[in-house]
Order: sequence, then structure tokens, then C-alpha cells
Amino acid sequence: MFIDSHCHLSFPELQSQLPQILEAMSAAQVEQAICVCTTMEEFPTVREIAAGHANLWATVGVHPDSEEGVHEPTVDELVQAAQDPKVVAIGETGLDYYRLNGRTIEEMEWQRERFRTHIRAGQATGKPIVIHTRSSAEDTLRLLREENASHGVFHCFTETAEVAFAAVEMGFYVSFSGILTFKNAQALRDVAQQLPLERLLIETDSPYLAPIPYRGKTNSPAYVPHVAKALAELKGVSVEELAARTSANCRELFKLN
Ligand SMILES: [Zn+2]
Ligand SMILES: [Zn+2]
Repeated sequence: MFIDSHCHLSFPELQSQLPQILEAMSAAQVEQAICVCTTMEEFPTVREIAAGHANLWATVGVHPDSEEGVHEPTVDELVQAAQDPKVVAIGETGLDYYRLNGRTIEEMEWQRERFRTHIRAGQATGKPIVIHTRSSAEDTLRLLREENASHGVFHCFTETAEVAFAAVEMGFYVSFSGILTFKNAQALRDVAQQLPLERLLIETDSPYLAPIPYRGKTNSPAYVPHVAKALAELKGVSVEELAARTSANCRELFKLN
């Protein structure tokens, strides 16, 4: 019934619990999950997890916050890695100006270059890009426009309605996480309510951002129904319909079979 469109099962706290997580997913009717890559060093593990389980999928890419000592991939390297049939997307990629660590936005050109590399790999492979954007929406949209990108998802969306509609108009999907269930997230719930069901995905971004009633605990794909429930209430549809629509969107975007 449900698909978690974004989780990090290769992170140690989840990888060490994989059998229990798969069992909990099955009990919660979470049929599939996409294991998102954040460094090239991590990619073999992400790929192995997906290879070992028919209902798990992988991506390849370097997160904008991955810095010290991580390998900077070329377009060709990403394209090569994406040849694996279980690799369904490029990313997560994007911009994050939240943690500037004393640098100016101008000094983040390396991050913008990395983002462009991933966008180009997405276009070269025909695979969607998984976009992470934080405190950088304007530049994220600008780079996507400059690169003529239109295929992918804005994951763990926390921006304004204006940014969401810009993304949708460019052809992107918008994915919501457990943040939707947080008490202080009314502005985000207002954004989600306005967006067309045809463009929505759900995710956990686990191990982070566990939805209420698990807030503060280790998140897992088994908790994605709580995100679905929150979004269903906002959209005025049943959880079953919300699950069916978002799962169909997810299959369509990532070409899951
Ligand atoms: Zn992210
Ligand atoms: Zn993530």
C-alpha cells in the first residue's frame, strides 16, 4: 500500500536493524522503499542493500552537506553507477546554505557545481534527481532552470507555497516527511494542502525526522503511514486513497516495478 520514497537504510543505526525494519515495514503495509545515497563512499553499501531485497531500491549521489574527504564524482562516474538496474535516481543532490560554517553564499560555488554535475547525470541517464534544498530555494530553482531540468522530486519539502508551485510547474514532484505531523509545522501543512495530489510523494528521511508519535526516536520506513495519514487529512481523502495516489506517483517517477 505505502512506499517510502526516501530513507537512509545504509546509515549504521538502520542497517544494523535491517531484518527487524523489513518485518515492521511488512506489518505496516509499507511495500517498498528507496535507499538514498549521500556519498560515493557509501554507494556500494546502498547498492548492496537494494540488490539483496526485491522491494528496496537505490540512488547514487553526493549530498550537499557531505564535505570532508568525500569523493567528488564526475558526470561520467554518476552515469556509470546509475547503470545498475536497482539504481532508480541520481542524488540526493541540491543546495544547503543552512550550514555555511562561516562561509558566504558566494563561497559555496563548489556546492552549485556539484549540483550541476548531478543534474547533468540525471539528464544523461533519463533518471530523476532527488533534490535536497535548505535555505537555498532561489538558487536551487535558478540552477534547475539554467540546466533545463524537469525530472525529479523536491524531497523533505519545507519551503513556501511559492517554491512548491514553481517546482510543480517545472515538472517536479514534491515529497513530504514526518515534519507534517509536527505541532509547529502549520505553515508547511498549509503548503501541502494546496498542492495537487498528482504531484505528491511521501517519505520518512529516516533515521531522521520521526513523525509524531515517535518524534525524537530513530525513524524507519515503517513509520511512513503516519506521514500518509497527516497528508490524507490535509487533502480530505482517505489514507487508502492517499497511499494509492502517492505510491502510483512514486512508481511513475522512479519507474519501480
Ligand atoms: Zn535531504
Ligand atoms: Zn535524505
